[in-house]
Amino acid sequence: MPRIVMKFGGTSMAGIERIRSVAARVKREAEAGNEVLVVVSAMAGETDRLVQLCKEASALADPKEYDVVVASGEQVTSGLLAMTLQNMGVKARSFMGWQLVRASGVHGNARVEKIEGALLDEALKEGMVAVIPGFQGVSDDGRVATLGRGGSDTSAVAIAAGIKADRCDIYTDVDGVYTTDPRIVPRARKLTKITFEEMLELAGVGAKVLQVRSVGLAMRENLPLRVLTAFDDLPGTEIVPELGEDDMERNAIAGIAADRNEARITLTRIPDQPGTVAAVMGPLAEAGIQVDMIVHAATAGEGSSDLTFTVPRASLSQAVSALEKSRATIGGGELHTDDAVAKVSIVGVGIRSNPELAAKMFATLAERGINLLAVSASEIKVSVLVAEDEMELAVRVLHTAFGLDAPQGEAA
Ligand code: ASP
Ligand code: MG
Repeated sequence: MPRIVMKFGGTSMAGIERIRSVAARVKREAEAGNEVLVVVSAMAGETDRLVQLCKEASALADPKEYDVVVASGEQVTSGLLAMTLQNMGVKARSFMGWQLVRASGVHGNARVEKIEGALLDEALKEGMVAVIPGFQGVSDDGRVATLGRGGSDTSAVAIAAGIKADRCDIYTDVDGVYTTDPRIVPRARKLTKITFEEMLELAGVGAKVLQVRSVGLAMRENLPLRVLTAFDDLPGTEIVPELGEDDMERNAIAGIAADRNEARITLTRIPDQPGTVAAVMGPLAEAGIQVDMIVHAATAGEGSSDLTFTVPRASLSQAVSALEKSRATIGGGELHTDDAVAKVSIVGVGIRSNPELAAKMFATLAERGINLLAVSASEIKVSVLVAEDEMELAVRVLHTAFGLDAPQGEAA
């Protein structure tokens, strides 16, 4: 009998009416002959409300007590869904995180260590639907631990992997993964398929469909996912280990990502000699600042070089103070910063085998007179840094150039 995990997000669980329609969907899958496990989020807005209560109660709340409070939202929706299913004549019962999910690491942002599947196997054998609260597990100290905001996606993937499910369907408030942010490009298109690595690159730069951690976990576990909406019967997006022969008509580029969360730092006229870059980067790493794009070039015949890189916008002032110190060591250099920049990336497994894609990106942007402040590339991604006020234009022209626009009248 196929075993499936269905995960429902907060919007699908917000209120009894919606829980009823979730239950109807679960019932359909159970009656179609599947063993069904359901992982649920708290009702939309509930976790925010609980976090706020913790803040009001204590500015520096004990993380263990914070977890006791914020984990409660999923307990409520699990019980409500189980009783709704029972009302519809479906055998169902709820569990709690401590019965199934061993977690480790810090409270409030714990990692899943292990799934104890025996209780679930038993329930499934008895023909029950198992309803499981997402976001929670039990830590080494025997206390409830939560998995970080958005963590029920990770719960669902971990449980699906742990009990060797055949499928893991994530029902969320968007109906799939799009080629870019539809707020920037109304003609963004829903992807039918995307690989894990592409999804990680798109998620890493702002496409917040799934908790990034859950995608990494599914990739390690080789567990295909589907992202679907609970409000319709649309097909959604499959997230798969790699594209098959039949997927070859999909564009080489899966999508265009845009990220405003960067700031640029440039050091000009620094000595062109071994150790300069290390002297700059060392203190930034020590301060825990993540450096992203890096461009370093010597100025011909002058014995000096320029170094440009980006850091998260929120870390800019911290980075500047770390650099003030290292400037003394490297001897000289002028420091310039700019936080009105944005990173635009093309992402796709096709980049690996086709160098023309990067060239096409640069040509497309050049045609529109968009200046590139920095460039970086990895196996399946090419990123450019542009002025923030040119970001949307860059995304739009790239989206069109790479054939990603939905046909007229078919927009999202
Ligand atoms: N309810 C939790 C949150 O809002 C976990 C989740 O829904 O994924 O972050
Ligand atoms: Mg979510």
